[in-house]
Amino acid sequence: MNALYPPSSFIDKVIAAIRTVIGSAPAVLHEPAFAGNEWLYLKECLDSTFVSSVGKFVDRFEADLAAFTGARHAIAVVNGTAALHIALMLAGVKRGDEVLIPALTFVATANAVSYCGATPHFVDSEERTFGVDAQKLRDYLDRCTEQRAGFCINRSTGRVIRALVPMHTFGHPAAIDGIMAVARDFNIALLEDAAESLGSYYHGRHTGTFGLMGTISFNGNKTITTGGGGAILTDDAELARHARHLTTTAKLPHAWEYRHDEIGYNYRMPNINAALGCAQLEQLPAILAAKQVLYERYQTAFASVSGVRLMKAPEHCQSNYWLQTLLLDTKYVDQRDILLQSTNGAGIMTRPAWVLMHELMPFRECPRMDLAGAELLVPRLINIPSSSGLI
Ligand SMILES: *Cc1c(COP(=O)(O)O)cnc(C)c1O
Repeated sequence: MNALYPPSSFIDKVIAAIRTVIGSAPAVLHEPAFAGNEWLYLKECLDSTFVSSVGKFVDRFEADLAAFTGARHAIAVVNGTAALHIALMLAGVKRGDEVLIPALTFVATANAVSYCGATPHFVDSEERTFGVDAQKLRDYLDRCTEQRAGFCINRSTGRVIRALVPMHTFGHPAAIDGIMAVARDFNIALLEDAAESLGSYYHGRHTGTFGLMGTISFNGNKTITTGGGGAILTDDAELARHARHLTTTAKLPHAWEYRHDEIGYNYRMPNINAALGCAQLEQLPAILAAKQVLYERYQTAFASVSGVRLMKAPEHCQSNYWLQTLLLDTKYVDQRDILLQSTNGAGIMTRPAWVLMHELMPFRECPRMDLAGAELLVPRLINIPSSSGLI
């Protein structure tokens, strides 16, 4: 019992509800599970001596990932940030451009835009999905941009708005139909930051396969991991070829000659990471099933706690429930920090949502629309232990 609060307090009820589901042992936010062929494939990879940028596991991982997501092509890279960087470049994003991204995202989205010499332009998110608010964005672009020679121009900066990158927050699919329509109507390229949403579907179709390209992360804290890793998904054969070329130093195929025809990147996923990835992909259905059960148990536990609810998959969507999220009632926002302190103090790892991008030092001067939706949402969000191993 926490002496600081009366037993009936809101905080104690939340902690009790979490404990009903996860038990009394300490729990981290998200840890990987290696229950399949991980050791076997890693040993096979070491025995082959092909641990680096070529090898059969990379090719297999790409084929398996394409099969799982339904994308025609998957290009495996060193991490999700690198995947975003290359996807943005291939969408034509260059120095002096602007790229629309949610203010409510992990910093990697904004960083990747900056690597291209472009400026992030922050857009608002909605409570229903935690993703880009399509209607609000449409109204904003109607007011603040004009079309010139087939390009969308930000009237106040005179710069081209080249791309829009929605993100599927904590694994919940954004309302992608409406977002796609905005991109199309304003002549803006659509890329999806699907770093968090492997195994999440919008109307039966895998997230990351709606835009020109989608990107995934296999960092250690994501739904499945390759240690570090990422991938680009696309249906376009030419984009896939170019992505593979750019991520392997843009070297022209030749038996011995080192000739590179553009400035390339050493972004190819190493074979040893892909070996881990192949085993993890085999486990993905079981991991997703466990995370669904965890969601249902939390849902039951929190049904009787007033003042807070558990985020559920948006309508007609399937979420991977990467990070389970509590949404505090507005009148309880002053309880968030106490809740964070009490849970972490009690061995239950919890985290708030990210500090919004426009509040971060490097991005303070970037253009942005009204962000009231995201600003009201962030103080209400808390991620709670979400590992598949808790089941
Ligand atoms: C994890 C993540 C990334 C970046 O992935 P890394 O593999 O860590 O580089 C990008 N965007 C979002 C929203 C993420 O959560």
